[in-house]
Amino acid sequence: MFTRIIRGEIPADVVAETDRVLAVTDINPQAAVHVVVFPKTGEYRDVSELAAAEPDLLAELVSVAKAVAAEKAGGEYRLIFNTGAGAGQTVFHVHAHVLAGNLEEKSLVG
Ligand code: AMP
Repeated sequence: MFTRIIRGEIPADVVAETDRVLAVTDINPQAAVHVVVFPKTGEYRDVSELAAAEPDLLAELVSVAKAVAAEKAGGEYRLIFNTGAGAGQTVFHVHAHVLAGNLEEKSLVG
């Protein structure tokens, strides 16, 4: 899925990009600001795998998330990594959800 976005096979609203990380607007937004941020490599299924193998890439992903939130939401945001189908993960290419705006009525677990 996210690999197809990187290849340009499906359209996406790109909000930030580095050599190794891409951030796009979520197609099914759960908040006023909802952006998914992911590494261009598809070799890691979830944040635990990414953290163990390439902590610097995880740090870069968090840095991109911070920049997106600074630009779109004044720097205050929620960063969520769903990990495992039972926790709501549907795309097994590690990604962070950046959520901001109108979150006050939402629970922490979605
Ligand atoms: P998760 O359920 O944590 O695996 O999150 C996957 C997210 O990817 C969901 O919020 C979807 O709405 C989002 N998503 C799926 N396909 C696309 C797409 N083509 N462009 C942008 N976001 C997408």
